[in-house]
Amino acid sequence: MPMTAYDDKNIFARILRGEIPSHRVYEDDQVVAFMDVMPQGAGHTLVVPRAPSRNLLDADPAVIGGVIAIVQKIARAVKEAFAADGVTIMQFNEAAAGQTVFHLHFHVIPRFEGVALQRHSGEMEKPEVLSANAEKVKRVLG
Ligand code: 5GP
Repeated sequence: MPMTAYDDKNIFARILRGEIPSHRVYEDDQVVAFMDVMPQGAGHTLVVPRAPSRNLLDADPAVIGGVIAIVQKIARAVKEAFAADGVTIMQFNEAAAGQTVFHLHFHVIPRFEGVALQRHSGEMEKPEVLSANAEKVKRVLG
């Protein structure tokens, strides 16, 4: 079955273009990382390559290589920033797998012993909390 084409009106493409705001923690010429507005845990961060692809299935392997190195960098930073016990990395491909925004991204979520994840795409977090959490990560990243 042919894959659906990339649509550059998706919400992350608009965030990358600066058309709608986000709480950014990191950016370079390849990748932008910002706080998830409906976090599944405190410090839930999204790592998003600038290059357009719907998800991992249609992405250029060279883009994946670059973005995964930044996923590691952000995972280390959130673990330190939130004094977490671990970090969950998630990535969904197509609606049947739970994907809701169709621009490749990786979820990076600090984890704590005995604390379950919140629901996926659940409650909106307050902007001031997202802003404070972004500052914590940025401080670690320097
Ligand atoms: P997916 O299901 O596609 O892997 O995850 C999309 C994620 O994007 C969800 O965790 C959801 O909370 C988050 N999200 C949806 N809309 C926005 C938005 O406008 N801004 C930000 N920062 N995150 C969003």
